[in-house]
Amino acid sequence: MLKRVLIANRGEIAVRIQRACRVLGIESVQIFSDADRDAPYAKSASLSLCIGPAPARDSYLNIAKILQAAELIGADAVHPGYGFLSENAAFSKAVEEAGLAFIGPKAASIETMGDKIAAKRAMKAAGVPCVPGGDEALPDDMIRCAHMADEIGYPVIIKAAGGGGGRGMRIVRSANELAEAIVTTREEAGRAFGNPAVYMEKFLQAPRHVEIQVLADNHGNAVWLGERDCSLQRRHQKVVEEAPAPGISRNLIAEVGERCAAACRSIGYSGAGTFEFLYENGAFYFIEMNTRVQVEHPVTEAVTGIDIVAWQIRIAGGERLSFEQKDIARQGHAIECRINAEDPYTFRPSPGRIQHWHAPGGPGIRVDTHVESGYVVPPHYDSMIGKIIAHGESRDEAIARMKAALGEAVLDGITCNIPLHRDIMANPDFVAGNLGIHHLEHWLETRRHDD
Ligand code: ADP
Repeated sequence: MLKRVLIANRGEIAVRIQRACRVLGIESVQIFSDADRDAPYAKSASLSLCIGPAPARDSYLNIAKILQAAELIGADAVHPGYGFLSENAAFSKAVEEAGLAFIGPKAASIETMGDKIAAKRAMKAAGVPCVPGGDEALPDDMIRCAHMADEIGYPVIIKAAGGGGGRGMRIVRSANELAEAIVTTREEAGRAFGNPAVYMEKFLQAPRHVEIQVLADNHGNAVWLGERDCSLQRRHQKVVEEAPAPGISRNLIAEVGERCAAACRSIGYSGAGTFEFLYENGAFYFIEMNTRVQVEHPVTEAVTGIDIVAWQIRIAGGERLSFEQKDIARQGHAIECRINAEDPYTFRPSPGRIQHWHAPGGPGIRVDTHVESGYVVPPHYDSMIGKIIAHGESRDEAIARMKAALGEAVLDGITCNIPLHRDIMANPDFVAGNLGIHHLEHWLETRRHDD
């Protein structure tokens, strides 16, 4: 068992990891930047230390400083959370080389999944259904590329192997746009990601985003914990997530889930992970794997009762999974709303002092946040300040509980997107379910015109 876990992250996920450590009887070490010195989570950890100035590159992204801190304080493991260094293979390697446990998969898994071409190839080989198209980098020969596109059928999408955060992609609707799209995406990818390799796949017109959560230990055991529907997105950023995905056959989910767990076993994956899929016309298509805990993990925790973050730590400490696939039961329905310090209409970030914060409660309500009354949201980082998760027997009950919670929540002093979530929960299309990934942006457009 690990004894002292350094948390290389901030905000609500730092609070979440501290809680998991407390439950496991492990000490937590919280690092923080100058901008987060007064944050409640800098005080609630067993130990904490400042590692540098506000800009992330000088603190939360600075590998040398984080390792120095770990050594200074005698940590035996590092939890990277999400974002920052969580999917950086060089970081996980450096942590292991310093003799500490990295709470996540091995560097080789992070590396494979960080290259979307390699990831797709590995998943195809493991029998996971992928978007139709190549699993090789596109050749320089444009004639061959044009043949490939004809075979796949337009529209196609050109994607950078090293792309991330919704960048490095271009849709091609007809043959005469192809050459330019390939050249431009390749150029951009080289500049932005240091890897000019691009690949081509079918562009799906109105898919849903459905993902499978997995847990795998270092002893060859892997399970899947059900799916999450994260189709409500703005600029490729998830806004609302839920589990299970409404209206998708349980048998189909189980088939895909089994393949994901099998893929983990075949590539020697360990820790928590998420297989992201596009779902269209009754079929799943793998797009990428995230090799870390996700923001939306609580909806899965709600319906399965499994503490995913505690399991990440236990697995890194060498423990075996104590349950099998047949032991995993999913109960009810859970929805998560991401609360951001931003204007609910213009989406402009709104950092500053929170005068008053009242967290909602009651049956089935969970609030994961690092803020309190008087907390100052710094302007340097992501605008997410918390998450409200509602769990109910049915989707309708989860929505009703979420509506009540959003009505009860009070956040004064800065603007936040709670009004947007209230509108979404009251929207008949959302209540009906089965929405595609473009729905929210289209709806935001009409909402703007109505105002
Ligand atoms: P990133 O790592 O940048 O998030 P992804 O491969 O996960 O990239 O894709 C991000 C988003 O781009 C998807 O959620 C989807 O909206 C869109 N997208 C990616 N591939 C396709 C595709 N083949 N067809 C349609 N949309 C796609």
